[in-house]
Amino acid sequence: MGTEAEQDRPGRVVVKVGTRLVVDTAGTPRREFLEAMAGDIRRLADEGVEVVLITSGAVGLGRRLIFEPGRQLKPHERPSAAAVGQPVLMRHWAEALARVDLVPAQVLLTLDDVVDRSRCIRLRDTLEDLLGWGAVPVLNENDSVSVESVTFGENDLLAAMVAVAVAPAELLVILSDQEGLYTADPRSDDSAELIRRVEPDEDVGRYASGAGGPESLGGMARKIEAARRATDCGTRVVIADGNRAGVLPGIIAGEQVGTCMIARPRMPSRKAWLAVHEKPRGLVVVDDGARRALLQPDGSSLLPSGIVAVRGDFRAGDLVTVQDGQGREIARGLTNYSAADTDAIKGRHSSRIADLLGRAGVDEVIHRDDMVVNAGD
Ligand code: GLU
Repeated sequence: MGTEAEQDRPGRVVVKVGTRLVVDTAGTPRREFLEAMAGDIRRLADEGVEVVLITSGAVGLGRRLIFEPGRQLKPHERPSAAAVGQPVLMRHWAEALARVDLVPAQVLLTLDDVVDRSRCIRLRDTLEDLLGWGAVPVLNENDSVSVESVTFGENDLLAAMVAVAVAPAELLVILSDQEGLYTADPRSDDSAELIRRVEPDEDVGRYASGAGGPESLGGMARKIEAARRATDCGTRVVIADGNRAGVLPGIIAGEQVGTCMIARPRMPSRKAWLAVHEKPRGLVVVDDGARRALLQPDGSSLLPSGIVAVRGDFRAGDLVTVQDGQGREIARGLTNYSAADTDAIKGRHSSRIADLLGRAGVDEVIHRDDMVVNAGD
C-alpha cells in the first residue's frame, strides 16, 4: 500500500526551504540555489503540479544588512531583522522565478491566521486563486508581528499546517542542508544510517538531534514533530537535501530521495484544520460509555449524557479537548455550547436541554462532523 501511495503523483506540493539553503553563512543570498529551485518549480508547473513555496531566510538576510558579520541577533531583534530581510528575500525569489517566467505572490502569516477558521478560509481562497492564475505563492511567517502567543515557532510547522489545512496537498517536502533523518548524527558518528522510510506509527523522534543554525529555528526534532502533524492528517512528507540537483522533480517522479514519511488516510480539510489547531480553549471529561461510543470507527457525536466534568472558560464555537477519566485526549472538536451551558446539561439526556437552559438547543455538545477522534480518525 505504502509503495503505491509513494508513487502516486501529487497534483500539489508544499515545499519548505530552510534558511541555510537560501542564505550562506556570511548572510549572502545563495543565488544558484534560488535559481535551481525556480527551475524545478517551472518544470513541475509545466507538468501540471502546483507548488506552494514556504521560504525562511528573512531574519538571516536582515541581520546581514544591519549588523557586522558575526554579530548574532538577540531574540527580541528577530522581528525587526525579518522586517529588513523579508523584502530582500522576496526580491531574490522574484528575480529567480521571473527568469523562468513565473510570477511570485507574497503571503505573510501568523499562527492566528490559520487557527481562526474564517481567516483560514480566506487564506485558502486566496491561495486557490493564486494557484489557479499560475502564480507561485511564496509564504513566510510574518515575523515582525508574531508575538510569542501566535508564532508557529518555526517554518516547519507553518509548512505542515499549510499543507494540511490551508492549501491541502498530497505531499509536503521539507528541504534543508541535510540528506534526511539519520539513526545518529552523521557528522560525528560513522555508523549513522539514513532512514529511508518511516511508517505512520513509527516513533523516530529519538533519532532527531541537533538544532537549526543561528538564524533558523527548526532542527531535525522540530521537523519530525511538524511532519507528524502532516502525516497524521494524510499528507506524505519527504525530508531531503535541497542542494541536490533536481531534487523536487525527482521526489515527484517517485525517486527515493531523503526520508519519506508515509501518511495516514487523508482527512477532509475541516477535520484536518481541527487536528492541527494549536490551542483548545477548554476540555470536557467523558465517562467510559461515551469514550467507547466516540472511539468506534463510525462513532457518534458527543452528547451531554456522557460528560462528567467541564474545565476552562469556552464559548459556543470554540475548540475543546475531549478527555477520558484517565486524562487521555480522545478527541477534539468545536463545541455547540459554552462551558457554563455544558456544565448545566452534563450527565443529562439531550431531551432535557430546553428545560435546563431555558431555551432550545441541539442534541450534540460536539457534532461528529466538527470532531477529530485521535490522530487517525
Ligand atoms: N521566518 C523565519 C525567517 O524567515 C525563519 C523561521 C525558521 O527558521 O523556521 O527568517
